[in-house]
Amino acid sequence: MPPGSTLDLEPATAAIDDVRDSQKTTCCVVGGGPGGMMLALLLARQGVPVTLLEQHKDFDRDFRGDTIHPSIMEILDQIGLAEPLHQLRHAKIYGPTLQIANTTFNPIDLRRLKTRFPYIFLVPQARFLDFLANEASKYPDFRLVMGANVEQLIEEDGQVRGVRYLGADGTHEVRAPLVVGADGRFSRVRHLVGFEPIKTSAPMDILWFRLPHIPGDLPEGEGRILGGLGVGRILVVFDRFDYWQVGYVFPKGHYQNLRAAGLESLRQSIAEVEPAFAEHVKTLTDWHQFSLLSVESSRCPHWFKPGLLLIGDAAHVMSPVGGVGINYAVQDAVVAANILAAPLRAGRVQLSDLAKVQDEREWPTRVIQAAQSAMQNRILASVLRSQTVLRIPWFVRAFFAIPFLRDIPARILAFGVRRVRVSEEGVRSST
Ligand SMILES: Cc1cc2nc3c(=O)[nH]c(=O)nc-3n(C[C@H](O)[C@H](O)[C@H](O)COP(=O)(O)OP(=O)(O)OC[C@H]3O[C@@H](n4cnc5c(N)ncnc54)[C@H](O)[C@@H]3O)c2cc1C
Repeated sequence: MPPGSTLDLEPATAAIDDVRDSQKTTCCVVGGGPGGMMLALLLARQGVPVTLLEQHKDFDRDFRGDTIHPSIMEILDQIGLAEPLHQLRHAKIYGPTLQIANTTFNPIDLRRLKTRFPYIFLVPQARFLDFLANEASKYPDFRLVMGANVEQLIEEDGQVRGVRYLGADGTHEVRAPLVVGADGRFSRVRHLVGFEPIKTSAPMDILWFRLPHIPGDLPEGEGRILGGLGVGRILVVFDRFDYWQVGYVFPKGHYQNLRAAGLESLRQSIAEVEPAFAEHVKTLTDWHQFSLLSVESSRCPHWFKPGLLLIGDAAHVMSPVGGVGINYAVQDAVVAANILAAPLRAGRVQLSDLAKVQDEREWPTRVIQAAQSAMQNRILASVLRSQTVLRIPWFVRAFFAIPFLRDIPARILAFGVRRVRVSEEGVRSST
């Protein structure tokens, strides 16, 4: 179907024997991560009936980033949610602290940016998603189904017309003129529709694990992402208040070497990068306490087809460098809601509307992925290969000392390549 043609917004009804029930909605969002949740909230606010299907029964999972960047906070502020979000237990950081040998380097200071929220707000992502879900549930057009594992697309006449999901009690169907795949890096929807992402592998992998809070350890609550750089390794640390969530970054493909060297060697290595964890690492006694995350980034050449749109990690997996994945997923959601809410309500979504979402969001994604790739290949790869304790090169320190230049990375970190705002119509709530 060429861009410009109108999608048929009256879903067909077909009897399917093993399906327990078939519901209709206007937009079916698959995946309750930051992208899907934000899109569902913004559509529901504007009176678009939306059903959100999330495969897990809750949002409590380790594999989540916890960062809310200034751009997301500004978006939330537009719809009156920044203040309430600040009521949740949180921490703030004004820029990552790089700890190298015994010195620290703070290349980025968000406090110099023109924004009401010049910090990265750290809140366990599960609490953030609970917060958005709770907010969305105030709108009668929002329906959330937890424990709904989408397994099939309903396709008729070359158009996606809904999904089938497996719930606790069997298979259900949701029919909708538009399905949005916001189901993350391993997107089932993307797979079902046959879109192949172009992958770029990063020169590193991450071991992801928890360490306990111990009285007197790192200062609690002030919030920090520590990038500890040592001999061939980097440590990233989030304070999740009840525990430390830690990422141990090491050269890609070296996992077997780590295993062969043994747990004691890994414990020592962690404590070398962050000596404050010398006691904590004693709790690491089994490899089952670690999850291996293969770092890659990718982007889909196509984000849409008739009746279907991909957003967030489903459309483009971002490398963890800079922690921008949540930011980009939320920005995709805002742009999608800005463009699609009115056509959805009017019952006339055109393929060109879906194309517009990709057009607006693809280039900022490609720019940031190119920047991440350059950083990974030129800086991180050499850090991870290094056999000596690193020093920050003079030209890097010089760059961050020049007032005009030093804030460019901060602006990109805070807002992405360009600021995204909720449309005026989106700001006006339907209730
Ligand atoms: C270990 C780790 C640390 C990270 N740290 C950061 C960070 O600090 N800052 C940052 O910005 N980004 C970080 N990221 C990246 C960030 O988490 C993602 O970019 C972001 O969550 C993408 O949001 P999303 O809504 O597109 O997808 P996701 O957050 O992945 O959400 C997808 C949702 O879809 C659900 N789902 C999947 N399949 C189905 C199905 N078949 N049916 C129904 N539901 C389904 C999943 O359960 C999930 O809830 C990190 C990623 C990882 C893995």
